Amino acid sequence: ITPPALSVFEALESEVRSYCRGWPAVFDRAQGSYMYDEDGHTYLDFFAGAGALNYGHNNPVLKRALLDYIERDGVTHGLDMGTTAKRAFLETFQNTVLRPRDLPYKVMFPGPTGTNAVEAALKLARKVKGREAIVSFTNAFHGMSLGALAVTGNAFKRAGAGIPLVHGTPMPFDNYLDGRVPDFLWFERLLEDQGSGLNQPAAVIVETVQGEGGINVARTEWLRGLADLCKRRDMLLIVDDIQMGCGRTGPFFSFEEAGITPDIVTLSKSIGGYGLPMSLALFRPELDIWEPGEHNGTFRGNNPAFVTAAAALDTYWADGQMEKQTLARGEQVEQALREICEEHVRLGSEYRGRGLVWGLEFTDPTRASAVCARAFELGLLVETSGPQSEVVKLLPPLTVSPEELDEGLRTLTRAVRET
Ligand code: PLP
Repeated sequence: ITPPALSVFEALESEVRSYCRGWPAVFDRAQGSYMYDEDGHTYLDFFAGAGALNYGHNNPVLKRALLDYIERDGVTHGLDMGTTAKRAFLETFQNTVLRPRDLPYKVMFPGPTGTNAVEAALKLARKVKGREAIVSFTNAFHGMSLGALAVTGNAFKRAGAGIPLVHGTPMPFDNYLDGRVPDFLWFERLLEDQGSGLNQPAAVIVETVQGEGGINVARTEWLRGLADLCKRRDMLLIVDDIQMGCGRTGPFFSFEEAGITPDIVTLSKSIGGYGLPMSLALFRPELDIWEPGEHNGTFRGNNPAFVTAAAALDTYWADGQMEKQTLARGEQVEQALREICEEHVRLGSEYRGRGLVWGLEFTDPTRASAVCARAFELGLLVETSGPQSEVVKLLPPLTVSPEELDEGLRTLTRAVRET
């Protein structure tokens, strides 16, 4: 890449940018599972906007719905107003997501980003319970605002706040005794130790699969044990489904497999369908205690996102096929990762995942970055995750074809061999 192409980024953009550095290209167009840079290179995208593009880039059905809406001068910005686009989204969400699963939730629009949804969930839980502590888990990631960062378990990201972050209590994630029995001993001890009443945590926030934390999959029994503990000890259970929801792990909600019903759920990333900012907090009706205006914000009514969100639900979630397709594609990924790990045992690589989110972990973190860099040269976009960036994270669009998946997995295999 020629230096002038990147110079304005170097000169003007804050050093905090990260993906831009890992991928020295200037991207220009994107379609389906592919991105194209301005120099004519093609990249198969197994990053998918960090999970915001489950239906691929410029999905033709969603694009048509968006263009029709824009062409008829549909409302683009509606704050909290009742609009036809919002009504259509709510009806579709009810018919395709909530009702078939018998989920009782109320829906609120907390702001454009996942962090906004987490912040709203934490605030609401504290207001409902009148307590301040929130239990989260080691390696969790919930966002970058002060509240969400306080329940995020990454020392590097926490340090960005420049001040101590308070009222988050971390517990071990997916902890098992002798590898067999879900173990909440430390959690129970904390509850005993802190005393009851106002000293108890208000809520527990958990990802069923930790995305940024290194693709750590919570096992079903542990999630059930956690839900049970929350019920017994009067704490609200918040599942942060911002990255793993919208079908990433197979079912629409990642917690469905465990058969639990959280009190509060956060959704963002792929809920807008087209990569447009949108987030939801879902909660049990009895938690709907905020007075009108007690939690608001300008960008809560992204009507074009309501349009693409409704189109995505209608297209992909009305018939139950999406889950089956994702699980089948997931088996294809698992097979390839198993082969890579068998070939590279001495490098200590290990794989884990579910649905279409997978991680390939290396004992030497520099190797994971080297694999991503080599994959980029070979035309595949993959990023690292995990506390030491030691995991190569695979997050293809859910609409990826078996052939595209095969192409990406062969490129990944080659990148691992060549680093
Ligand atoms: N929660 C989870 C589980 C996430 O993966 C993310 C983003 O990666 C967030 C919250 C924050 O979302 P956003 O980056 O849209 O603020």
